[in-house]
Amino acid sequence: MKFKNFPIYRIEWVTSTFLIGTALLSLTVVPWFLWTQFNLPADAANKVHGWGFIWAMFVFYYYATGFGITLGYHRLFSHISFKAKWPVKLFVLLFGAASFENSALDWSADHRIHHKHVDEDEDPYDISKGFFYAHIGWLLFRLKPKPPVTNVKDLEADPLVMWQHRYVQWIGAFVGFVMPAALGYGYASFMGYANPGMTALAGFLIAGLLRTVVVQQGTFCINSLCHMIGRRPYSTDHSARDSGVVALLTFGEGYHNYHHEFQHDYRNGVKPWQFDPTKWIIWTLSKVGLTQDLRRVPDSRIMAAELKEQSRTLGRDIDSLAARLDVRTRELKARTIAAAHELAAELARRAEALKEAATTKAEVAQETMVEMRGLLNQAASHLEALRRAGAGSAA
Ligand SMILES: [Zn+2]
Ligand SMILES: [Zn+2]
Repeated sequence: MKFKNFPIYRIEWVTSTFLIGTALLSLTVVPWFLWTQFNLPADAANKVHGWGFIWAMFVFYYYATGFGITLGYHRLFSHISFKAKWPVKLFVLLFGAASFENSALDWSADHRIHHKHVDEDEDPYDISKGFFYAHIGWLLFRLKPKPPVTNVKDLEADPLVMWQHRYVQWIGAFVGFVMPAALGYGYASFMGYANPGMTALAGFLIAGLLRTVVVQQGTFCINSLCHMIGRRPYSTDHSARDSGVVALLTFGEGYHNYHHEFQHDYRNGVKPWQFDPTKWIIWTLSKVGLTQDLRRVPDSRIMAAELKEQSRTLGRDIDSLAARLDVRTRELKARTIAAAHELAAELARRAEALKEAATTKAEVAQETMVEMRGLLNQAASHLEALRRAGAGSAA
């Protein structure tokens, strides 16, 4: 891009200054502070005491503000995938504000448009505009005027959400920056440390500033990496992907292919072995009555999506692999290929039947589900065999 074309008039100055400023301070002032503190003699007047408390606060704030976004802004407010009592709502609204990602109302409005228009021009963090744009660029620049907010009428009727929306910057500054400093000061005074002001400063820098940047980058990864890295077992109609690695950075939101396919499910990592701490907390809170009406997509519908996708992949891969086999081996493989095609068709038929059963809410027997799982495994081993044969013939 030529410099004269740089869209200076489209820069979001306040957001850009905050995002870039906090990131730069975290990369410069925070390490410098840690280094000078590390090298100070134990009896120095400006030595910070109570590092255990400071790091414990960092961990608490990391999870509290992270869940504020994933459990609160995302699964509760944007998708209404469960209902929550007011203490849960208040907690996620306070700590969500402290993650400095705007109000729950604005966040949800953007996110609902993202789901409705994923990968299209209207998508606020459209991945087809590149990694940088989807990650943070969409916040730094406003490419076109923001459309009027019309898709969060339900949230506008919630007084707690509207209270947070009105005072979000004040709540964020108080809970996210002032509180860690005040808690540091209080702890140091209680313990009788020489200079509580230094513990307060450390609380602000580590649990306030550094934590804000780490959590923000985690959330931004959902919009960028989750649309780039990983597998698409439930649908290849959109760019969203499932990645266990990204789930580790994002409190379980990395299973994004499933999430885009079934956005009203409170689970993102739907398989029992997948890392989804947000799901675990929502479920645990439901056991003590703080959350309720957890929405789950029936297993048969999930299986139908998997079968359909596997059938598609199988069909596509057979043709491309078969084209690579030479004439002699092709004859030998003809039977395998025919069988694979038949299996792909069978998978598609089963997917349709299951979908039908799910829409009419008919019971699907456990044996049928086991049989389907068997078919899926069979398809996977067929694919593996074909891929090996393809690699052999290419060599
Ligand atoms: Zn997405
Ligand atoms: Zn979502």
